[in-house]
Amino acid sequence: MNWPEAHKLPALFAGATLLPIAVLCWLGVRTLDQDRDLQRQRQRERLEVAAGRVALDIEQDLQQIEANLAAGNGIRLLPRGSVSPRQEPLLFQPDVPAVIVLPSPQLAAAAHLEDRNPFEAIRAYERIASIGAGPDRGEALVALGALLRRQRRFEEALRAYSDLEMLGAEPVAGGQPAALVAKQGRAKTFLESGDQVRLRREAAAFARALSAGGWLIDRASFELYQHDMIEPWGGPSADLHAVRRADAVADLWQRWRRGELEARGRRFVGRESSVLALWAGAPAAPVIALLDSDELRARWQAVWESEGLTVAVSRTDGQHLFGAANHELTLPPSETRLPFIMAIGSVSSTPATEDVFRRRAVISGIAVACLLMIAASCGLYRITTRELLLARQQSDFVAAVSHEFRTPLTSMRHLLDLLIGRDVVDEGRKTHYYDLLAGETERLQRMVETLLSFGRMDAAAHVWKLELLTVADVVYSAGNEFRREITPRSLEVDVDTDLPSIRGDREALSRALWNLLENAHKYSPNGDPIRLFARRTGATVVIGVEDHGLGIPVAEQQRVFQKFVRGDDAKRAGIRGVGVGLALVKRVAEAHGGTVGLTSAAGAGSTFTLVLPAEG
Ligand code: ADP
Repeated sequence: MNWPEAHKLPALFAGATLLPIAVLCWLGVRTLDQDRDLQRQRQRERLEVAAGRVALDIEQDLQQIEANLAAGNGIRLLPRGSVSPRQEPLLFQPDVPAVIVLPSPQLAAAAHLEDRNPFEAIRAYERIASIGAGPDRGEALVALGALLRRQRRFEEALRAYSDLEMLGAEPVAGGQPAALVAKQGRAKTFLESGDQVRLRREAAAFARALSAGGWLIDRASFELYQHDMIEPWGGPSADLHAVRRADAVADLWQRWRRGELEARGRRFVGRESSVLALWAGAPAAPVIALLDSDELRARWQAVWESEGLTVAVSRTDGQHLFGAANHELTLPPSETRLPFIMAIGSVSSTPATEDVFRRRAVISGIAVACLLMIAASCGLYRITTRELLLARQQSDFVAAVSHEFRTPLTSMRHLLDLLIGRDVVDEGRKTHYYDLLAGETERLQRMVETLLSFGRMDAAAHVWKLELLTVADVVYSAGNEFRREITPRSLEVDVDTDLPSIRGDREALSRALWNLLENAHKYSPNGDPIRLFARRTGATVVIGVEDHGLGIPVAEQQRVFQKFVRGDDAKRAGIRGVGVGLALVKRVAEAHGGTVGLTSAAGAGSTFTLVLPAEG
């Protein structure tokens, strides 16, 4: 068989298997793709429904806030620039009406004295402060504090500022709340006296008072206090959240005053448009609610988290406010009626359990189908190759048998022609030819009998004639027969004395031994001696034939006992045979309840043994 022929069958089987597997895999991939698309679509639908619910919840919350506004609850804008402080007090007011107070004659006189006679001036201010009421008192305390500081009478200055602080929100020094002016004065006193510790403490107290809000100050004043005083003096920075709220109110107030505020609305306002304002009641009496981005997030986070969503919110101009979503879905205000854009994603993109289950089922189904196909194909391939091998062995057998028959028949015919033709006159030669004729006939007969017996044994139709046999008898007679027929061969027969008897079929055992001896002869082309032996091993009798011939490679040692199987070396060396001898030996051994053994190495010879149970 040349290379392409030898590989044709496996290639055919591989092709026939791989093609449907490829088709199956392709179908599988397509199914999985479609399934994934379907899954994505379903996930998106789920996301849309959840996002719709979130938008609705937010809308309802905003409506609730607006209902409160309509009921008057919120920050009220007042025409004179101030804002109702009922809600959270603001850090500064949108607008502060200017307070212009002309100094009283006493105050003017005291001020006049400041340069020429500070002591007199101090006394004058103290007098006004102790007896005076209304704006004069505050102004006197402000001037007194400043003058005392200039005179470096710091403790007295501090006392003056403490008195001033008691006046609370009363406007002094051009409209500033007395309490804040007092704080400012106290801090300056510490600054000028070089008392850093008390200065920092005062700055912190000033910051607390300022951030409590509710003062009638504008943004400029607030920034002056915060950035030019509190912060340089070591106080904390302002709460950005509160600043944005106040900014947002100022923004809305200005729009309102310009007449640009609709009756109701929702809009991001303030310096960076970072605060969502909702208002109602404009233009007559606007009421506002404010939500900055932190508040928006805190207010609704639970809503989208409960739906398993992540939400990023940005203003309609695209400015990002908060949240980082993976943007699977964007809901613009046109869809939600909300005043911002929501970018929505799901927290986990893990598919639903049933989807995972279905995918796994499809994949395992395909895998199982592929495995089954491969297994079926392998099985079929094995059966086919076995059948092909058997068919080839059988045809080899037929060819070998024909050849085995033809050889003796040809020489018999030739001998008969010689004898019948009376060409041979010498009696000695005639006898020799007759002997040759007898030998060939014997060989032919033995071959036919071996084949017939094997045929019967193979078909389990052989009738075994078991009897008690003396092993030595069987072995010696086989040895003698061998010596008689294969004369030039040296055979050593080595039989232990005191061997037990065996129960066996004499003829079958003789035939088996003959086959082993004939093989030893055939496969020892150099004429090395052969040994026939019999010995006792435990409860068995071992009869064996040992030669030093070709030997059998390990890979072939199992196979040579199968019918029609001939060794590669035997075929290569052109040694005649039909491949049933060892199969017959094996059947005979098994029919006697025994086994066959083989020890062999290629090139070193072989020892075949029949291991038979001993009798008694
Ligand atoms: P045959 O001898 O007719 O080929 P057998 O069944 O008797 O068939 O033997 C099967 C094969 O076993 C042989 O073809 C040969 O390769 C191998 N064989 C048997 N006996 C021997 C031996 N004594 N030495 C080497 N090879 C042997």
